[in-house]
Amino acid sequence: MKQIIILISVIAISFILLSFIKKNKKMKIYNITDDLLKHDTKTYSKRNLNQIDTIVVHHSATETGSAESYARYHVNNRGWAGIGYHFVIDQDGKINQTNELDTISYHASNWNTRSIGICLTGNFDNQILNGNNLDSLVYLIKKLKLDLKKELNIIGHRDVANKSCPGNNISIELIKKLTEWNSMRIEKHYFVIDTFEVFLRTLYLNNLN
Ligand SMILES: [Zn+2]
Repeated sequence: MKQIIILISVIAISFILLSFIKKNKKMKIYNITDDLLKHDTKTYSKRNLNQIDTIVVHHSATETGSAESYARYHVNNRGWAGIGYHFVIDQDGKINQTNELDTISYHASNWNTRSIGICLTGNFDNQILNGNNLDSLVYLIKKLKLDLKKELNIIGHRDVANKSCPGNNISIELIKKLTEWNSMRIEKHYFVIDTFEVFLRTLYLNNLN
């Protein structure tokens, strides 16, 4: 009897420790703003950070791509001052900061002055978010709310433009839910996913698979 109790205790403690390890994922934002192509003569206007109240989520609408390639496209083909987005999240979840937050870059007509543009590499009309890029998007939005010390409205590009961007397989409602709860629980770059978030995330990934 005593052995069984010890055995159960050991299993329970291992389970708790394992789940704790699983829930702590190291997150980092790589600021590559200075490495990206900029226009020779044009520059974007600047803003005060308190003008920001919205996050606009985009996708690249391409299976592959990178912050470098979007910067080249926006400068060379669109004639913009630099890359349009503030952040680019790679397929593997790497978070790149591509503009400073006080830069009014171009990513959503009429919404640029008040918003931060986040682009997920991928075509989410066909693909679905994998665990890595979804975690990164949720972490980044939570971190921005914490850094700016305010609640931010989250919209998809399609909400303010006649496009499917960020793709029909991305539910902005879900992203809102995932970033609403426990938004203060980011400590030292560790992103704590609670049980309810894991449940929602699993539901999302499975529903679309
Ligand atoms: Zn877009």
